[in-house]
Amino acid sequence: MQQPHSSRRKFFGQLLGGAAAGTLLPAGAAAAATPTGMVREPAREIPLRDAADVIVCGGGPAGTAAAITASRLGARTRLFEVHGCLGGVWTAGLLTWIFDFNKPGFTRELVAELDKRDARRHQHASQFVYEPEAMKLLLEELCAKAGVKVQLFTSAVAAQRAGRQLTAVITESKSGREAWPAPVFIDATGDGDLGAHAGCGWDTGRPGEGVPQPLTMNAVAVVRDAHALAEYISFFRDVQRHIPAVEAFKRELQRAGIETSYGHPTLFHIRDNLVLVMINHEYGVKATDAAALSAATVRARAEISRVVAALRQLGGPWAGMQVVASAEQIGIREGRRLHGRYTVTRDDLLAGARHADAVTRPTFGVDIHALTPEGNKQETISHGGFKMKPYDIPLRALLAKDVDGLLMAGRCISGDFIAHASYRVTGDAVALGEAAGAVAALAVQNQKPPHEIAWADAALALEKLRARL
Ligand SMILES: Cc1cc2nc3c(=O)[nH]c(=O)nc-3n(C[C@H](O)[C@H](O)[C@H](O)COP(=O)(O)OP(=O)(O)OC[C@H]3O[C@@H](n4cnc5c(N)ncnc54)[C@H](O)[C@@H]3O)c2cc1C
Repeated sequence: MQQPHSSRRKFFGQLLGGAAAGTLLPAGAAAAATPTGMVREPAREIPLRDAADVIVCGGGPAGTAAAITASRLGARTRLFEVHGCLGGVWTAGLLTWIFDFNKPGFTRELVAELDKRDARRHQHASQFVYEPEAMKLLLEELCAKAGVKVQLFTSAVAAQRAGRQLTAVITESKSGREAWPAPVFIDATGDGDLGAHAGCGWDTGRPGEGVPQPLTMNAVAVVRDAHALAEYISFFRDVQRHIPAVEAFKRELQRAGIETSYGHPTLFHIRDNLVLVMINHEYGVKATDAAALSAATVRARAEISRVVAALRQLGGPWAGMQVVASAEQIGIREGRRLHGRYTVTRDDLLAGARHADAVTRPTFGVDIHALTPEGNKQETISHGGFKMKPYDIPLRALLAKDVDGLLMAGRCISGDFIAHASYRVTGDAVALGEAAGAVAALAVQNQKPPHEIAWADAALALEKLRARL
């Protein structure tokens, strides 16, 4: 029955008053003091699911590499991913462009597999365009073949510890809340969710105010003839031709009366008449603020639609251009950087640091997108004001400092704002995942915590694995 407005308001007021006082408890439960503006969630029993040797949270480039490697090295491995596909920014984020991929190991295997499927083009040794749909299938197939137990639509929402040891991850999905025990965990959520839930320290954004790099929503569009747009598409005819294509595209946008929020609007050619549209920046949005992420997603999607409609109005080669799909997940460049037993810093990039426990050597430069719309007008992308030298990332930057039994892989490893702006690209994310997976598998085999595994042993295991494949 419809209640009159005033009695509805009174009813909600009473409910909220009770919640604020911590009284949303089942009958009989003790109402402990709860700070104002908080509710106390009642304790409850949740099912304990099958144990695994290694649990990976997050199925992006780093997480899939980690899970496949751990499983191939004999560990019973589970992978939890919140979206409906594997690949993270590669797939749910529709990235389509890969950097710093000229490395040994799993990166080479992915390249070979994408080539077998004719899903890679505009090749350069370390950069290329791939087809996101082919990447989804490939990662699913590789996980299945390696024996990884993948569970999609499942989010890591809490963690349990015994002293310093991480003992279980708690997930939430359509199956409700479930607890999954394991001796070794890998946080590959990009945003460092598992580490944060387990109580690890972390940083985000530029030191001081903590403003992170902007978000970007990508979209795939169809055009009538990509060749007619060659002048505006980065790397289309020449793998070096990026900035001139961006400038030419910008002039077309100006002709259409559009100024995009991203100062380097970019088109990539995926295949045939499919292109990737990257024109958006969302400023000052933290990866941990769901309301701000939602608002940014809605704004970004509307901007893409507006821009493509304006281009279509220009006619000529733009006639018929249409968005096929905007990304399911707005691209997050920077979330939490979890504290590790080593922090990769700007000084490492300046010096070209070398470490005995180096798991990979990034060669990609510092890539800081403007943090504000005003900054975007002055300098859309800055490189930190110095020339980086390829530097080592040591295993210690992948080992959580505050918790045992937890490795990190991908963009949430331990580093400062400047270093993160270099190692965040996907070639390095894969290499970091592969290293974390190998160390995790060896930890299980040797019944030791990951921080007691020598990198030399893990590197040898990886070498043998690569020779076997
Ligand atoms: C717009 C944009 C453009 C970029 N351009 C390039 C480029 O051109 N080339 C390049 O190589 N790199 C580029 N990068 C960087 C690169 O894509 C990322 O830094 C890279 O994806 C890092 O990989 P990752 O696996 O650490 O994180 P992600 O790709 O973010 O993967 C994390 C995964 O974890 C999942 N997840 C998150 N939280 C949870 C949870 N609580 N429980 C379960 N699952 C969870 C996510 O759904 C996702 O699948 C770009 C990034 C962005 C955002």
